[in-house]
Amino acid sequence: MIVKTTVNQTVIELVCGDITQEETDAIVNAANSRLAGGAGVDGAIHRAGGPAIMAECRKIGGCPTGEAVITTGGNLKARFVIHTVGPVYRGGGKGEAGLLASAYQNSLNLARKKGLASLSFPAISCGVYGYPLREAASLALSTCVAFAKNHPELRHIRHVLFDQRTYDIFAQELKKITP
Ligand code: ADP
Repeated sequence: MIVKTTVNQTVIELVCGDITQEETDAIVNAANSRLAGGAGVDGAIHRAGGPAIMAECRKIGGCPTGEAVITTGGNLKARFVIHTVGPVYRGGGKGEAGLLASAYQNSLNLARKKGLASLSFPAISCGVYGYPLREAASLALSTCVAFAKNHPELRHIRHVLFDQRTYDIFAQELKKITP
């Protein structure tokens, strides 16, 4: 099942699946601040995209939490990977919400600066970083909806959720914030 809504001139879509198979201009990686690769979606993206992505990550050297950098997509269908670093969830009193919103916002800004028309996000911080799913979904979607209202040039934003539970929660939260 695909949930789809249009905000201004941007289609925002939720899909259940593997982000490494996406054909958008860029996919977003939930990276760590050393850009060192790892488990979860980060490992999957490097495996599928090949060593060219890590070669560029090494040159960049790192990325602070809440910020974003861009590399080639290597062997992926997506031309670029935007690596952003979400916060580790430590109870919610350590600025996690602002940092998670920034991770989405800075990824969107970078896509716009590069002139990209489509972008796919995973559920940043919702795996080993432990962010509560519903709060993360709400922040992710409200940040993207606000961006779409101001930036019609990004035509297509996809949230690619890896499992049914994550997908269902994103779908419920999207319903709450769009008419
Ligand atoms: P973080 O460290 O930011 O929590 P994780 O990779 O551990 O990042 O998890 C982020 C989300 O990505 C989780 O919801 C996880 O299930 C999901 N995920 C893992 N592999 C993939 C994949 N191939 N495509 C899309 N999402 C994935």
